[in-house]
Amino acid sequence: MTDYEDTGIKDPNKVALQAIQRIQDEGLPASPEIYELFFVYYSGVSSEVTRSIDIMVNQNFELTAERCMELYRRYLDDDLTKQALNKAEQIVGDTLNGVDQIMDNFKISNKHFFGSMEHINADVLDAVDVKQFKSLLASIIKEAQRMVTENHVLEKKLEKSSITMQQLKREMEEIRAEAYTDSLTGIPNRKKFDLEVVRLVAEAREEATPLSIIFIDIDHFKSFNDTYGHQIGDQVLRLVARAFRDSLKGQDFFCRYGGEEFVIILPKTPLKGAAHIADILRQSIKNKDIKNKATNEKLTSVTISSGVAELRNDEEIDKWVSRADNALYRAKKQGRNCVIVSEE
Ligand code: GH3
Ligand code: MG
Ligand code: MG
Repeated sequence: MTDYEDTGIKDPNKVALQAIQRIQDEGLPASPEIYELFFVYYSGVSSEVTRSIDIMVNQNFELTAERCMELYRRYLDDDLTKQALNKAEQIVGDTLNGVDQIMDNFKISNKHFFGSMEHINADVLDAVDVKQFKSLLASIIKEAQRMVTENHVLEKKLEKSSITMQQLKREMEEIRAEAYTDSLTGIPNRKKFDLEVVRLVAEAREEATPLSIIFIDIDHFKSFNDTYGHQIGDQVLRLVARAFRDSLKGQDFFCRYGGEEFVIILPKTPLKGAAHIADILRQSIKNKDIKNKATNEKLTSVTISSGVAELRNDEEIDKWVSRADNALYRAKKQGRNCVIVSEE
């Protein structure tokens, strides 16, 4: 569960009552997750939750427990990764215990072997004829064979543990990749942005190279959804993500920042270059034929607005990001379908 202590919710008691009332009105089960979802909705602390629920209501989707849980998992369940980590921790623990046991068995088996050998050693000194030697030799071979077999069994067990650990490592990598990917478009998400922005800024500072950022927002997307439906809207979000993927270079980072907003970070790119790229993207989106996949009907074209800013020396990341966001805001004010650069 997320910690809402520092989010400054004005009237938490009122919000709680609204949430409970809504759960009752919708006939939903009052599980902690669904309660949290509506608590977040009425507090307004997550624009993603607010938007998603509003979209569902606007599109006359019934708010079923299943849909609510899907939203909860998508936006609020920090615990999802935690659960996966707990599971992984348990597997690692079990495997290590298994390895400990294998090592204990190995020690016991070794002790047994050397015990037998000492015994045989003493017997060899006392042996008087070939027959006795032969019988002792047979015992040595038998002990050695037993040791080989036991070692082989232990080796197999260790091999199995090693495979389990490798599998686990792969699963952990998948979980990590999933946590940083937007499920709708398959491109990186906001969480990944938070990491990448820090890394790219540090890199640009170290290399003393220019770094630019583009904030992009689809124009009038609400009315697009209202006209064609949420599913076609989703199709457009995927199309926009694909256009970015096709147009940008390997070193550029782009992500779905939230809702219908995307962000691109361009290493080694000054303001002018970034504005140029933003304009190419703007044109490419505007010129795309958008069709209803089911009916092949051609739909109104979609446009995007962008705000661009280049990182300044010693500028804080938040300041730089908000300059780009402000430029985007101005692009919207200027009539949309345009690119505005932050030069102040
Ligand atoms: P503006 O040009 O000022 O950006 O207008 P807008 O309608 O795009 O902006 P507004 O912020 O009012 O609405 C954003 C809309 O984006 C609301 C919602 O319908 C849509 N949206 C956000 N996330 C999703 C999503 O995951 N899928 C779909 N289909 N629509 C989404
Ligand atoms: Mg927006
Ligand atoms: Mg918009």
